[in-house]
Amino acid sequence: MTDTSEPGAPTSGAKTPSAPQRAPAPIAWADAAPLALAGRPRRVIPLVVGFEVIAEAISVAGGSSFRHLMEPVTAAAVVFDEGWVLVDGGFDPARIRHRSLRVTSFDYENYAPVVPAGDPLVDQVAAAGLAWSDLAAAAVSHAHFDHTGAGRMLRPDQPLLIQRREWEHALAVTQPRAHFLFLDDLVRSNVQPVLLDGDTRIAEGFDALDTAGHTPGHQSFSIDLEERTIVLACDAADLRVNIEKIIPCGSTAGPDAARQAEASIRRLHELDALPDTEVWPGHDPEWGPWREVIDAQS
Ligand SMILES: [Zn+2]
Repeated sequence: MTDTSEPGAPTSGAKTPSAPQRAPAPIAWADAAPLALAGRPRRVIPLVVGFEVIAEAISVAGGSSFRHLMEPVTAAAVVFDEGWVLVDGGFDPARIRHRSLRVTSFDYENYAPVVPAGDPLVDQVAAAGLAWSDLAAAAVSHAHFDHTGAGRMLRPDQPLLIQRREWEHALAVTQPRAHFLFLDDLVRSNVQPVLLDGDTRIAEGFDALDTAGHTPGHQSFSIDLEERTIVLACDAADLRVNIEKIIPCGSTAGPDAARQAEASIRRLHELDALPDTEVWPGHDPEWGPWREVIDAQS
């Protein structure tokens, strides 16, 4: 893993994101080429790629609409004996740095995206000693714009793994803004979507878990390491309190979403109770692995 070249133009302002053009048609997981991974997952590298202001009631059903939290935008690298997979990818920093893009992208009352200096995703991947040329795939928990920014980094042979229900939902909505979607992050010439249907074994020791509710095709990820299992809840549980007290996320979308969110948080709570299993909340500023990343930056 010596090649640290950075494909794409991650912070090139107006160049990214471009209008959708000749984007590859999605293919089903069963029809996709095997991922360029060998062996087992050996490490999960936590990444903090931004921050955002979120009302507590968005993260926690029944929470305060008054209290606002500065939540980390997180991602993770799942590193195998050979190759690695990126889980989620934060914002495309170009959307923050480019004034008109920023204004049009984040026109929401009481919302503020933050991307610290540099390119946190690129910088932290490099600091971990990983090469983008060894990236086998990128998996996104769901299509909200604080998760899809890594599309800019992908080559067509590094597929984007997303649940079919999420993909179809994202493309079907008539008002992407109301659903916090940047379709340009997903539908682009360099991104090959591969569609998963519910629980899916992505690779030995690495599973996608159906945790719908926050969005119609939300997925979490389970990674079996030698000494423990890590479950990345992503936005099925923004905070640890969701997992510990079995409180679903406060923001849901789709038919039957409230019931699905309830079932998903119960599933995550039960996984968290298994021996040697940790469920990591997606946006908790106090969760140790994210805190350590934040504290390590200057
Ligand atoms: Zn999120």
